[in-house]
Amino acid sequence: MNTAVIGYPRVGKLRELKFATESYFKGDKAQSALLDEAKALRAEHLKVQAESKISLISSNDFSFYDAILDTAVLLNVIPARYQQLGLSELDRYFAMARGYQGDKGDVRALAMKKWFNTNYHYLVPEVEDSTQIKLASSKPFDEYLEAKTLGIQTKPVIIGPFTFFKLANYLGSKKLVDFKADIIKVYQQIIGKLADLGAEFIQIDEPILVTDLDKDDIELFSNIYQALLTATVKKSSKIILQTYFGDIRDCYNEVISLPFDAIGLDFVEGKQTLSLLEKNGFPSDKILFAGVVNGKNIWKNNYQKTLALLNQIKQKAYNVVINSSCSLLHVPYTLQNETKLTIQQRAYFAFAQEKLQEIAELGELVNDKNVENSAAYRANQTLFTREREGANSAVRERIKDLTVQDFIRLPAFSEREAAQKKAFNLPVLPTTTIGSFPQTADVRLNRSKFKRGEINLSQYTEFNHQKIAECIKLQEDIGLDVLVHGEFERNDMVEYFGESLNGFVFTEKAWVQSYGTRCVKPPIVWGDISRSKPMTVDYSVYAQSLTEKPVKGMLTGPVTILNWSFPREDISQKESVFQIALAIGDEVLDLEAAGIRIIQIDEAALKEKLPLRREDWDSEYLDWAIPAFRLVHSKVKEDTQIHTHMCYSEFADIIKDIDAMDADVISFEASRSNLDLIDVLKANHFKTEVGPGVYDIHSPRVPSIAEIKDTIEKLLSKIDKQKLWINPDCGLKTRGEKEVVESLKHMVDATLEVRERLH
Ligand code: GLN
Ligand code: ZN
Repeated sequence: MNTAVIGYPRVGKLRELKFATESYFKGDKAQSALLDEAKALRAEHLKVQAESKISLISSNDFSFYDAILDTAVLLNVIPARYQQLGLSELDRYFAMARGYQGDKGDVRALAMKKWFNTNYHYLVPEVEDSTQIKLASSKPFDEYLEAKTLGIQTKPVIIGPFTFFKLANYLGSKKLVDFKADIIKVYQQIIGKLADLGAEFIQIDEPILVTDLDKDDIELFSNIYQALLTATVKKSSKIILQTYFGDIRDCYNEVISLPFDAIGLDFVEGKQTLSLLEKNGFPSDKILFAGVVNGKNIWKNNYQKTLALLNQIKQKAYNVVINSSCSLLHVPYTLQNETKLTIQQRAYFAFAQEKLQEIAELGELVNDKNVENSAAYRANQTLFTREREGANSAVRERIKDLTVQDFIRLPAFSEREAAQKKAFNLPVLPTTTIGSFPQTADVRLNRSKFKRGEINLSQYTEFNHQKIAECIKLQEDIGLDVLVHGEFERNDMVEYFGESLNGFVFTEKAWVQSYGTRCVKPPIVWGDISRSKPMTVDYSVYAQSLTEKPVKGMLTGPVTILNWSFPREDISQKESVFQIALAIGDEVLDLEAAGIRIIQIDEAALKEKLPLRREDWDSEYLDWAIPAFRLVHSKVKEDTQIHTHMCYSEFADIIKDIDAMDADVISFEASRSNLDLIDVLKANHFKTEVGPGVYDIHSPRVPSIAEIKDTIEKLLSKIDKQKLWINPDCGLKTRGEKEVVESLKHMVDATLEVRERLH
């Protein structure tokens, strides 16, 4: 059977593209050298794929920063402020990605957003009324020809018009439909040109089809493609409409009746893909690209299950190609760089390069009458017929024994709130911060020296104690009401806990692109999660010993820990998150027993993994995510105050669920976005006390007292003063010390002035 991959990682197996690009940014590398290195990387990636016997591999999946940004340039969706700079093509491209400040001008970057339900970010195109949509780059053609020169026939990949223009921001009065004619024209040119160059297949990505669409959307989508895909345009090329990250339940029938030659469907994340196929059939003259190998997770494919699935698919589709479920961009490059994993662990993992082999093997096994005797099949099945090491029966018992009571904190909120007001006796509008203080060079050096064994534990701890003492003193001098220890011992809010808990596995080089040159290295949830000893108590107790004011204990919540890791596939996410919740819950009780009276449990990434379709929100996510959070804090005393923090404020749609987390206080980002959410809080009688960030920590700018005062007054016009907390909008770790001190002083002074008025 034919095989394909949707796309391949581009940063290189050792993040070569990242380092080359960053040295270009610093001025240490010439543009021509960067272009050469990129070309060499593309060649290497093509070669690896071609050698793995994948029948159809992609070109134009390379990007210096992001494929949506590439498409914006391709279609001339380049805002005037970048055109006016008079930079080289590549520098203008980077200006759009990162902003530009130099002798040619001073412009901000395009906004960045999460790419569907992944941790990858794309740049949001800006369409102006004056935008002239036309062909403005030759990237897809050049990269197709570059591969052809290497003797590799590829399928060029382009982002489809519907996804691109649905994700764009329209700054003027014109909307998508106003550009329809130009959009069709330019895509006809692109497809026509690729066809002329000899592309047998052209892949058009339209992932937006897996999100909720209304009638008008579907009609527009159909119109565009009806007009676009005429025989004179595509000539002898075959057009693949590629979808991923879910199923296309809103428009399956429309899609299969459009003039595509092939359709790519996701059978991994697309919960309804198989039933759509079974119910509606599949046209016999089209090819089905079946996404059956998970492009988002690092576990080996279960061949038995996948072969059974392929057999079901073959009942309905005549011509099937085995495909990855999405681009392999979302998994690390190769297992070959990992030297510390055990043999057993390695056996279970497949990163991008290993997934190529899986797809190729499945392509052979699917037609093998004697599959059970095949060595590849048997080796694969040994992984799935026995339990993996890492099971913890005590943890499993605890989960089994959970009852409804374990998810309910008593007494109820209003009673607790009264008890806490009395116990803490805080002024109105209490001031606090989100947790971390600047991670200065000395802080990072202390951690890396300890990791390398250059200093011992007591030297390491000594340094952190000193930092904590300075941090407490600073907060007291500024006049904050609820203090934090500063998080100097933490590299990352998830990795820190992963390293202290049993059940996680860490890689050395398994980086995944997050945006541009930034990559992340998520931990892997390998086995059952448990905690062998307290993880944060010592530092919190030390910090509390230095002050009369309450110091918040600082934890990362279970949903965020799971969402920023590679999850298990052998047990449900619900079971996994409950295991983490029990471990973090034990930590909560230890903090409480050690005298910590306020505990913050961050759920920075809770909103992020909300399913793409509204009808799946509860059943596939909120029904376990919210209980997991409740489980963490349900056992604390009535006058222990539980805080949580989220890094965004776009949760208007799930406001009731946020309130149902039953925290006592929630802080969130509000300074940059308008204050719309505040109206939503009011309309929903939000019970949890709130700390909507009063200034933006993502910028080095120091806000003035007047400005913050103004924000507080605005908040007070909508929120009961008894419910309002004053804090920045996120942790301060990425900021410089000087601006942090000034900003916090202004925040406290502004609060004092408002309090004065309230008295
Ligand atoms: N407590 C964490 C900090 O202050 C929260 C980080 C976050 O929200 N991303 O850094
Ligand atoms: Zn945050």
